[in-house]
Order: sequence, then structure tokens, then C-alpha cells
Amino acid sequence: MALLELNEMCVHYGRIQALTDITLHVEEGEIVSLIGANGAGKTTTMRAISGIRPLSGGSVVFDGQDISKLRADLRVVRGISQSPEGRGVFPGMTVLENLEMGCYTRKDRKAIEEDFERVFDLFPRLAERKSQVGGTMSGGEQQMVAIGRALMARPRLLLLDEPSMGLAPQFIQQIFRIIKEINEQGTTVLLVEQNAQQALSRAHRGYVLETGRVVKTGTGAELLADPSIKEAYLGVA
Ligand code: ATP
Repeated sequence: MALLELNEMCVHYGRIQALTDITLHVEEGEIVSLIGANGAGKTTTMRAISGIRPLSGGSVVFDGQDISKLRADLRVVRGISQSPEGRGVFPGMTVLENLEMGCYTRKDRKAIEEDFERVFDLFPRLAERKSQVGGTMSGGEQQMVAIGRALMARPRLLLLDEPSMGLAPQFIQQIFRIIKEINEQGTTVLLVEQNAQQALSRAHRGYVLETGRVVKTGTGAELLADPSIKEAYLGVA
């Protein structure tokens, strides 16, 4: 049984149909990348999984249960946690307070302490900057805070929307290495990326979205080697 299944999922914004019959799955332990051009529907797919956007058709099944109508906050409790596009760090709160926001519904103090340790091991920079306010952190540091906050919910499925957006090349490499490490520690990852090269080379599998539909799927290596994908998304003719 897959950890996450989307079955013919549709999403509308008013009369505009943003997603049409999206069917995909994520197995426990995988990194799966969604790639596609601007406006293809990547962010909308993430929002539908995390419960921020309602479906207009189809279903979202997590761990064998249909959660299509479940409230977003209850999906976090079930084990789905999202690091949103544009980072969404609380600018007036310190790094520590931002991380605490990720686990405010949890009561398991000991496990929470372990997760703080995990986040500070993954991102030593955050350990050094615990009391700096989010709004004064650099773009790359805010990305670390956002991912760290999502991890503080101890998710089974981590949703990452454009983790490399706006980052300098050396930071992009670093973020993807850390995503791999998070995955190796046992967290399943669904990733949305414009940086198709990095996203596919780090992923077990990928899906290509075009105008709200899945048009291709395969292993990361298969998609990287596909001539039409090279041309459209990797800038090689
Ligand atoms: P990008 O890489 O540019 O962020 P994306 O693949 O994440 O793009 P979405 O943001 O999911 O794409 O958008 C999918 C479609 O839905 C687009 O046509 C977009 O214009 C439309 N859309 C997104 N948000 C809204 C909204 N709030 N109201 C109306 N249409 C929207």
C-alpha cells in the first residue's frame, strides 16, 4: 500500500480548472519529485494534499484512509507536513519560536527534544541563530527554518514546495543534500521543483505536470534521460 495516493484529483479556482484527474502515488521511504513549468499546477497539488485547497473531484488517500475532506490541521496530526512556497517563516518570531510553531499540537516532550536535536544537526546554522528573528535571516536560512519547522511536526510525509527557490548555487546543492539526509533518516518526501536537474537526480521517481495534468512518470534517471524532458526542463536540446 502506498503512503499517499491521489486518485483522479481535480481542483478548481472558481471556474478555472487548475488540476485535472491527477493520479499519482508516493511509497513509504521514497523521494518523489513533481516538475513542470510555471502554472502547471505543482503548488496547487501540494495545497490539495495538505488540505489548504478543497478538491472538486477525485480523492486523497493517506496511509490507506481517504482524507479528502479532512481539515488541514488534522492532516498535520496524521503525519503530513508542508514547507510552503515562499517559505512562510514568521518574520517577527525567533528561530526557536518558529520551530516551536511546528510542534505546538504535540505533547510528547521527550520526542520533541529529539526533533530539536535532529533539526539542529541537519542545520547547524539554526543552532547558532536560535534567538535571531526570522525576518532578518537570509533567504537560504529562512528556507532552513521553514523545512526545520515542518520537521518539528515529525511528519511521515514531508511536502516541500520549491526548496531551492531564490537560493545561490552552493545553497541549492546543500539543501538537496539535506533533503536526501532527511529521507535517509526515514521521512518520505514529495518535492515540487523548477530545478528539474537537481529534483530528478535526487528523487527515486518523478512526475511531470503540464497544464494541470500528469503527462509523464518514471524513475528520476529515466526522466533525466528523456529527450523531451531534456529539451523542455533541462535546457538541453
Ligand atoms: P509556479 O511554478 O509558477 O508556482 P505551479 O505549477 O505551482 O506554478 P499553480 O500555482 O499550482 O502552478 O497554478 C496552477 C494554475 O492555477 C495556474 O493556471 C494558476 O494561474 C491558477 N491559480 C493558482 N492559484 C490561483 C488562484 N488563487 N486563483 C485563480 N487561479 C489560480
